[in-house]
Amino acid sequence: MGAWGVADAAGTTPLTIAIDGPSGSGKSSLARAVAAHLRLAYLDTGAMYRAATVWALRSGASLSETDRVAALTRAMPLRVSLDPTAPAFYLADDDVTTAIRDPAVSAVVSQVATNLQARPILIAAQRRMVSAERAGGYAEGRGIVLEGRDTTTVVAPEAEVRVLLVADEDARLRRRAAEICGSDDPAALDATRPAVIGRDRADSQVAEFMTAADGVATLDNSDLTVAETVNAVLELVEEALA
Ligand code: C5P
Repeated sequence: MGAWGVADAAGTTPLTIAIDGPSGSGKSSLARAVAAHLRLAYLDTGAMYRAATVWALRSGASLSETDRVAALTRAMPLRVSLDPTAPAFYLADDDVTTAIRDPAVSAVVSQVATNLQARPILIAAQRRMVSAERAGGYAEGRGIVLEGRDTTTVVAPEAEVRVLLVADEDARLRRRAAEICGSDDPAALDATRPAVIGRDRADSQVAEFMTAADGVATLDNSDLTVAETVNAVLELVEEALA
């Protein structure tokens, strides 16, 4: 079955594709490309932790006030565009798509991601979004691609396709440096290294994301282009639908 076959088949029954992986593995590019190809919705779960961080900080909370941050997360007026070609996040009517990527947010978001009271609130919201997409929603019931560190194990363990995307540390560091500093020269690598390695370490305390759970396919894209990685996932989709 070729690429069109996959797209057709994906239209007949709802499909959930969950993609996990460490920082810099290329989850976002992959998930967006797969969703666009299959005309599915796309959800970046990490962006929800980022939005909760922005909301808490704008509300005057200190991120160490775990109860307060959880209460703010519960009341957060988050709206999400699930269009893979134009993902967007709003707090009420305020478009925070760019603000949530601010390095100041990246530096502290793991305090929200490791807040064990805030986490279940966002996980429940993500699960509701998956159910809504399987029933209708943005992609009219075709389904959703969601990416983020616990999506294959906690948010959508029942997904038809679950992928752990890995890349060796060098490849991840190079990509993050190119993304953040616009270069992967030695200075850019040095500037990026603490963020990539430090965040992996902080996050691994609450979410297992370096080893694949049972039934989750591991895909190493250290030496693959984005197009090759997309094709590898489309093959997994074909297998799951066969
Ligand atoms: O992937 P991104 O950098 O946008 O993720 C933001 C933060 O949320 C990171 O600390 C990441 O580990 C965390 N996260 C998480 N669970 C998810 C998605 C992201 O803890 N499902």
